[in-house]
Amino acid sequence: MTVWDRVLDLVEKEGRVSSHSFVTWFRPTAFRSFDGSALSISVPSAPFRDWFMKNYSSLVSEMLTNLGHTGVRLLCDVETFGGVESLPIIEASALNPKYTFETFVVGASNQMAHAAAKAVAEVPSKSYNPLFIYGGVGLGKTHLLQAIGHYLLKRNPKLALTYVSSEHFVNEVVSAIRYERILPFRQRYRAIDVLIIDDIQFLSNKERSQEEFFHLFNTLYEAGKQVVISADVPPKMLTGVHERMQSRFSSGMSADVGPPDIETRVVILQKLAAAEDISLPDNVGLFVASKVRSNIRELEGAFNRIVAHASLRGVDIDIDVAQAAMKDLMDAPERRLSIETVQKFVADHYKVKISDLKARNNSRSVTIPRQVAMYLSKHLTTSSLPEIGRGFGGKHHSTVIHSIRKVEMDRKTDSDFDRLLNSLIASLK
Ligand code: ADP
Ligand code: MG
Repeated sequence: MTVWDRVLDLVEKEGRVSSHSFVTWFRPTAFRSFDGSALSISVPSAPFRDWFMKNYSSLVSEMLTNLGHTGVRLLCDVETFGGVESLPIIEASALNPKYTFETFVVGASNQMAHAAAKAVAEVPSKSYNPLFIYGGVGLGKTHLLQAIGHYLLKRNPKLALTYVSSEHFVNEVVSAIRYERILPFRQRYRAIDVLIIDDIQFLSNKERSQEEFFHLFNTLYEAGKQVVISADVPPKMLTGVHERMQSRFSSGMSADVGPPDIETRVVILQKLAAAEDISLPDNVGLFVASKVRSNIRELEGAFNRIVAHASLRGVDIDIDVAQAAMKDLMDAPERRLSIETVQKFVADHYKVKISDLKARNNSRSVTIPRQVAMYLSKHLTTSSLPEIGRGFGGKHHSTVIHSIRKVEMDRKTDSDFDRLLNSLIASLK
């Protein structure tokens, strides 16, 4: 028996409405979802909904209170023959045609995320729900998310699939509120079969959008619909996002995309060249891949630059052209800190051994340096949390998160410690 059935029972039993009104206004409704804070029902038409909400919403909330559910929001959606009245779903053409599984190069840094994305694309809702993909800028999150979209739509072009950036979602919430279109907004999103939402960190500190998203997420999730999410950090590290959301996000599968290794970078360059029917000598591929290390978008930028140089000069790509094209990039080499450098520096400062930082020894003399080193690795290198965990003797990324949080807290409460960290950061940079 759903909570809505109980509400109906109560309304009928208590004789709060005439039996005629009951048959007219309560019988035609149907339960859709309930998550403890929002109850969603569907009704036959828009005028019905308006009348029902105006005349009966307070009775419903009174009944809910009697049943022990206080402060519940009642959401009322309009049902038509084929299901919920469908408002236009955001165009699938928002997907970039280049972002498919075919063009995605798999390497050690993204293998897990790729496998999980593939599994979800093949069997949505049954593999991992939600699927949460996280990692730094330009490492392929959007590409993977959209690849899932392409794959599903290719199999079933009628699928109600929505890919949306979180920024777009927030804008929609804002305009729905402004133009009093929040119900159609909800109705539209709740009719989705697969929701793919990119860069969820954008919802941070946006209360109303988070609330809308939380209810949307729950509704879709409970109805067995697939949700795919990306962010720059794992769920537990999303700051300014409610804990209940963080734990919902981590209830399915999380996988990270990290910076690709050199072999993967070479393959990416070769694929780019092949797609444009350009011949890329092996030594040029290696040269570029060794110069551009951490970000695939930059790798593409370097490639485009070389192509442009060669075509300006009217020559084929060779190492001279590549070197000339990349000259300014190389003149100001970006200094990329590694976890090892951070560890060495921190070990020197605290007079501990690097091996202590990686060990499982939990004495205070090494836990603090270890936490500091993890924290600095997160902030000063491009490594992902699992990579940092591995760099510290194979620790789980939750341990890394815990350490980072601890340091963040201590910086807030202990000004000497905060000063020390500032000076460590300044000397490392
Ligand atoms: P993110 O969303 O993580 O910031 P994107 O998905 O936008 O990164 O990727 C940046 C660029 O790099 C895109 O053009 C994308 O196609 C390309 N790219 C990223 N990862 C791969 C990969 N594994 N194989 C091929 N191209 C990739
Ligand atoms: Mg992106």
